[in-house]
Amino acid sequence: MSATLLDGKAFAATLRSKVSEHVSGLKETHGITPGLAVVLVGEDPASEVYVRNKARQTVETGMQSFEHRLPAETSEADLLVLIDQLNTDPAVHGILVQLPLPGHMNADLVINAIEPAKDVDGFHISNVGLLGTGQKAMVPCTPLGCLMLLRDHFGSLSGLNAVVVGRSNIVGKPMAQLLLGDSCTVTIAHSRTKGIEALCRSADILVAAVGRPEMIKGDWIKSGATVIDVGINRIDAPEKALREDGTVKTRLVGDVDFDSAVQIAGAITPVPGGVGPMTIACLLANTVTACCRANGLPEPQ
Ligand code: NDP
Repeated sequence: MSATLLDGKAFAATLRSKVSEHVSGLKETHGITPGLAVVLVGEDPASEVYVRNKARQTVETGMQSFEHRLPAETSEADLLVLIDQLNTDPAVHGILVQLPLPGHMNADLVINAIEPAKDVDGFHISNVGLLGTGQKAMVPCTPLGCLMLLRDHFGSLSGLNAVVVGRSNIVGKPMAQLLLGDSCTVTIAHSRTKGIEALCRSADILVAAVGRPEMIKGDWIKSGATVIDVGINRIDAPEKALREDGTVKTRLVGDVDFDSAVQIAGAITPVPGGVGPMTIACLLANTVTACCRANGLPEPQ
């Protein structure tokens, strides 16, 4: 048996075209263009790629993109001044500060300086509290993307057993809150969890957000379960021909051992092409939502 592939790439493309349509409507009917400001401090290569992709897709969907690139040695006080300016800029509906920040900055303090209504990453303490209490929040993009894939696959998630492996503030915890909000029975596993393999085998929905390449094997998965692999890990690929400079090429893998998991699971997200593309698409959708809320207009459904 081989699992159904949950095609995040195609789903994200559909979501982006819905965002584009909504943006066109906002422009034509109300003369409003949603705007997303992305702040990058320092030169982390992975962050550079993310920020470039976010800016490109923001523009492609018809929104305004404001990029702020600051040197690594920027003081926290100067970053806070910029955030304050963006908070009050009426052309900016969403603000995203790319993480990780340089070590001399307090990331919690910086994130909590963002106006909650513009916090399109959903990391501000107010949004965390709103989500946790089932109120209207800005929802973190990666778990939101996972939830969309799951709702699309199942229809209703009510009563399903969900195990989330990973308890980070950006993926694991908000993922668990969202699944609970959809009436799953949720367990969160982490590095101190005992009997994690058996626990994973109890899951109808297994979400892996660990950051350990291919940790979750096929025999950790209940037959027919739905597996959402959030992990993005770059590993050496000695099976590929060497680069011209003689170094080994690399490839992306998830936190799930795809080859064994696909034999057991009922449905699974591939890496790449699963959860990854959903994250930026949800960021764009969150920006439109923030813009609609700021202007008292109906939100996209
Ligand atoms: P973190 O490093 O912040 O959290 C990892 C979590 O996994 C921690 O809670 C940790 O437990 C847990 N963990 C680590 N080792 C084990 C283990 N052996 N057994 C069980 N649990 C373990 O990672 P993130 O949540 O930020 O990211 C997780 C993965 O998702 C990464 O691969 C990352 O690249 C990817 N990611 C993908 C995104 C996308 O767009 N698709 C977006 C964000 C992240 P403990 O708390 O006890 O230390």
